[in-house]
Order: sequence, then C-alpha cells, then structure tokens
Amino acid sequence: MIHDCPIREGAGLHPNAEALRFADQTWTFRALDEAVTRWTGALAARGVGQGDRVALLSTSHPAVTFVFWALGRLGAVFAPLNARLTPAELRPLLEAVEPRLTLALEALRDRLPGAESLESFPDGVTPGSVPARAWDADTPRVILFTSGTTGRPKGAVLTEGAFRASCHASAANLGEHPAPRWLGTLPLFHVGGLAMLTRTAYEGGCLLLHERFDADAVNRALDTERASHASFVATTLERVLDARQDRPLPDTFQCALIGGGPVPTALLTRARAAGLRALQTYGLTEACSQVTTERPGEADGRTAGPPLPGLQVRVVGTDGVTLGEGQEGDVEVRGPTLMSGYWNQPDATRDAFHDGWLRTRDVGVLDAKGRLTLLSRRTDLIVRGGENLYPAEIEAVLANHPAILESAVVGVPEPHWGEVPVAFVVLRPGHDLPADLDAWCRQSLARFKVPGRFVAVETLPRNAMSKVERSVLRKHALSHPPYQS
Ligand code: ATP
Repeated sequence: MIHDCPIREGAGLHPNAEALRFADQTWTFRALDEAVTRWTGALAARGVGQGDRVALLSTSHPAVTFVFWALGRLGAVFAPLNARLTPAELRPLLEAVEPRLTLALEALRDRLPGAESLESFPDGVTPGSVPARAWDADTPRVILFTSGTTGRPKGAVLTEGAFRASCHASAANLGEHPAPRWLGTLPLFHVGGLAMLTRTAYEGGCLLLHERFDADAVNRALDTERASHASFVATTLERVLDARQDRPLPDTFQCALIGGGPVPTALLTRARAAGLRALQTYGLTEACSQVTTERPGEADGRTAGPPLPGLQVRVVGTDGVTLGEGQEGDVEVRGPTLMSGYWNQPDATRDAFHDGWLRTRDVGVLDAKGRLTLLSRRTDLIVRGGENLYPAEIEAVLANHPAILESAVVGVPEPHWGEVPVAFVVLRPGHDLPADLDAWCRQSLARFKVPGRFVAVETLPRNAMSKVERSVLRKHALSHPPYQS
C-alpha cells in the first residue's frame, strides 16, 4: 500500500496541531513539515538518495526527528548510533553501514571522525531537487543496532511498513485516543524511542521529546504538558514513582508501557496503587518494539499480555514443535512488524527465522488466554541438574532483601550439577554482605534455585543500553572459584 509522509499528511489535515515539543520549543505539523522539507532539500543536495544510508550520533534532539522524516522522503535509510558508545565501539558499526553521510551532535563529533555537525547541517546548503517517490511499505527505513547483550551488535533492517503496522497495532490495543501526547524519554537510537516518534506522527499526536531521562522533568510533563502516554523500563518507572511521592496524576494521563527487560509484578502493582496505569509489554528491536502488551481493561501486571492485534506468538520446544499453554519453551513471533533481516548478515538472518517466524531467543510460556510470561533470555537460562532456573525469579527474591539494592544471577559450569547459579549483589549503603542470604532465598525458592554463592560488587557491569552484561559476570565468576560457598 502507498502512503505519503505522515508529517506532510498531518500538515494538510491538522496544520496547527502540536506535533513536537522539546524544552520550551513547539512545532505544529505545519512547522514540522517545513523543517523536514528544508532538511530533505539539504540532504538531497549532498547526494543522499534512494537506498543510501545516513549514520547519526546524537542524544534526543529535534533535528534527529527532522532527519528521520527527511530520509523517509528520499527513500534513504536512517542509521542511528547509540550516543553512549565509545569511538572504538562505533567504528565497526559505521563500517558495516557504509553511510553516504555521517552526522553528529556538535558535542559528540569528536567520537566520529568526518561527521558533519547536526545542528548546523542545513544552514547555507542550497536545497537539491527531491525526486517524487512513493512512500511504500517495503522500503527499508532504519538500520537499528541491537544492544549486543548476546554477542556482536546486529543491525536490524526495519521497513516503513513495519513501523506503520507497529503503530496501528499499538493504537488498536490501547484503544481510541484522538491525539496521543507521548512522553519521549527513551532514546531515538533505540526502537522504543523510534516507536514513540512514529506513533505520534501516524496518529496526529505530539511527541514530548526529552533529551534524556530525568524523573523530575517527567513528572513536570505529566502534570503540566498533558502527557497521555509514556514508556518506561522498570528502573525509570521506579524513579518516576519515587520522585512523584503521593501527588495524584491528572486525568489527561492514559497509561504507561513498561518493558525492555524483566518487570517485577510488585512494581506494576505499586504504580497502579499510585494511580499510574502501567501496562507490561514485551518487545524487541527485530519486531519494531511491542510484540505483546497487556490489554488496558484486564491488566494485572502478572504477564506481558497477549500479542498485539495482527501479531502472532507461539512457544516451541527444542525440537521446533509448537507447545501448548503452560509449557515453557522458545518464543517465536510472526507478523507485519518483523525486520526484513540483519544488515549484510545473511547467515544471522537465516538463523533468526524459523518457517517465517522470528526466533526471539527468549524463553516464555503462554497461558490459556494467550498471554505471554517471559522467563529468561535463552542465553541467561541456567540448567542445574536438568532443572531450568530463571535468573529473573531469583533476582526478584533478592530484591526484597533489605540490604540489597540490585542483583544479577548467572550460571557457571560445574561438573556435578552441570551449572550452578552465582548471585552478584550490590548492597545498599552502609551494609555488608548479609550472612542470611542463603536462608532468605530458601524461604521463597526451591532449594535447587538457591545460588551456590553470593558475591558483593560495587556496581553491575552494564552496556550502552544500561542492560546488565551477564557475560562479564560469568567470566568473573569462572575466574574466581569456588562457585559454591
Ligand atoms: P541483543 O539482542 O543484541 O542481545 P537486546 O537484548 O538489548 O540486545 P533489545 O531489542 O533492545 O535487544 O531488547 C529486547 C529484549 O529485551 C527481549 O528479547 C527480551 O529479552 C527483553 N525484554 C523486553 N521486554 C521484556 C519483558 N517484558 N520481560 C522480560 N524481558 C523483556
């Protein structure tokens, strides 16, 4: 199906409606359309055209959205790079993308040799002519690198059609809302941030863009900027709730999506008790964000909900056979939001699909109502004496201990049991490693799930997306035996 750029459509349909806010600046659809038109001409003048890649290193900034839509109008591919990466980490991504043009926020330019300044790029460029182009569904739109918790980052290629399908599926799940005002605190180099950017554009809504997450700024936007939707990961939701204390939320707020990693049910219960309707969601880069999300009317925070309308989820055994409800296995996804493949990695692309279904590499279980519960990443799963053990379950028990701030549990090979869990714990200030951790775990967990050893660390190693690097912990545990105290 052929459409037009949603910003141009929006400028025709509701020119004076707010489309973008950043700090104290506002763009209506008409103003945003003008900015995008200027950028389209400037990029065309630099020879950017159909199929070309443009790499961009930036924190969230209005110009990132102008580039995103302008590249769409040129049929070119947006390749955002994670602004937290080092020059050494950025180099292979840039080499993989082979961009026609590289842009970087002025403050980050020293990390990308040869990058042009994002802030001043279109100034003084005489616009080039822009060939008329169909805004069609199969055009690759974005190359988005996964964060690499399971190995080398891979560039998922997401098409225009995948974004559009994802937006419509999300809107169908959340129900009618005339013009969502989405609080944009997830980075625009992450699928969650791009999902908010596209969702608001396709639905005629407004993106309330924040340069970075700040709990007080989020609460101000909730109170004074009529935010209707937000997306958080567990830790940011917790910080918003802590900063908010008991202040009630205005009626304008509809709901927040919480995902990106394990979401403790207790946290969602706390959010709801504070009047913040929080829905657990499960998604991944390769599926253009949400795959399953709790239905607003029946959310209890216990599962990640059923598949979005138009998507399918199945759980398969190690032999590839589909399992029934209540049976744990590998989660696979099918639908119009899936990536077309990994950029220039045909082997990885072949491995990622199984009869047209995407292998998510997550382990989960479906209930009788088709709702998914995530148990673990396949690579994080610990098998002890033939029993499956899920780090998230043990970490949830440790999180309730008064001396523990956070923890990560990893499996370490061991000759008798195959693997044993080792828990790395970060203690709250003023606490030593408690002597009762073993007993604490035994109160809530079966004996085989209790870690063989507890190791106190100052912080957990995290990658550029703030996800725990379990491979680093595994290596640390292996080089510091014994694994059982
Ligand atoms: P890589 O694929 O390179 O290892 P990554 O895991 O960070 O990187 P993303 O696409 O950013 O890739 O994150 C998707 C993953 O986040 C999912 O595959 C899943 O493991 C995890 N995740 C997302 N939502 C949830 C959820 N509600 N519960 C548990 N895990 C979740």
